Amino acid sequence: MKAIVCVKQVPDTSGVVAVKEDGTMDRAAMATITNHDDLAAVEAALRIKDATGCKVVVVSMGPPPAEGMLRELLAMGCDEAVLVSAREFGGSDTYATSQILAAAIKKIGVEEDDVIFCGRQAIDGDTAQVGPQIAEKLHVPQVSYVAEITVEGKSVTVKRLLEDGYMTIKVATPCLLTCVKELNPARYMSVGGIMECYQKPLEVYNYETLKDDPLIDVDTIGLKGSPTNVYKSFSPPVKGAGMMLEGADKAAVDKLVGLLDEKHII
Ligand SMILES: Cc1cc2nc3c(=O)[nH]c(=O)nc-3n(C[C@H](O)[C@H](O)[C@H](O)COP(=O)(O)OP(=O)(O)OC[C@H]3O[C@@H](n4cnc5c(N)ncnc54)[C@H](O)[C@@H]3O)c2cc1C
Repeated sequence: MKAIVCVKQVPDTSGVVAVKEDGTMDRAAMATITNHDDLAAVEAALRIKDATGCKVVVVSMGPPPAEGMLRELLAMGCDEAVLVSAREFGGSDTYATSQILAAAIKKIGVEEDDVIFCGRQAIDGDTAQVGPQIAEKLHVPQVSYVAEITVEGKSVTVKRLLEDGYMTIKVATPCLLTCVKELNPARYMSVGGIMECYQKPLEVYNYETLKDDPLIDVDTIGLKGSPTNVYKSFSPPVKGAGMMLEGADKAAVDKLVGLLDEKHII
């Protein structure tokens, strides 16, 4: 088997979020990181590699600097990397992004016992749509919100997180799993891994590489092929000053409950 992991490079929204004058996010001014859920997916794939010796291929669609992130993943133990990058792919919404990533995964090759991994959600776009859309386009079964994985030959048993518990699902391979960051903490790059990562294969798939796939069409990729377009983006209004209630007696509690009730919070 092999594991194919989709990984997105995202701006680090936990630090200072830079906003341009027009209100859009200034991505160039922010540090970039590997999306948290995707790191959990990479770790899950590497644990399967530790147990079975399978190959792990990481794939990312993004601008050329995303190569740095892919090299780090190779230094963690992944075997091969694919960077999907072309001007024609820019401006893609989730529909177009999943068209392109599905075509790239087909090019990598999906065999009977392969497992494709995605994160549950990217911290910038935040839609959680790309993984399930890739599965649809590859016609493979999918399980989202995966928190535990056991691979047994041509089936995978997973624990799927629900709001108030979890369910256990057995799914046939090839399949796609979207992983939550709670799945497992990602390992660090090793010194040996850093030394080796530039010898490992990193291929770039551009428009020429993928253009013959039926999923790649001017009407299904890039800005023109995106059924949705961002019409306007803006920063949410800053919350007003908080209110401090004095005292720790019943009167103060009644006042607090009254205020929360007034605002329909309780
Ligand atoms: C309405 C709309 C319009 C948009 N228009 C534009 C636009 O004009 N220009 C623009 O640049 N962006 C645009 N975007 C953003 C773009 O669609 C997203 O960056 C992209 O589709 C990924 O979606 P997401 O960030 O919500 O990922 P999610 O669906 O939350 O990601 C889930 C998982 O899918 C995988 N994944 C997602 N994206 C990638 C990737 N690039 N490479 C590898 N794996 C990936 C990862 O495993 C990730 O954890 C638009 C988004 C929307 C919703």
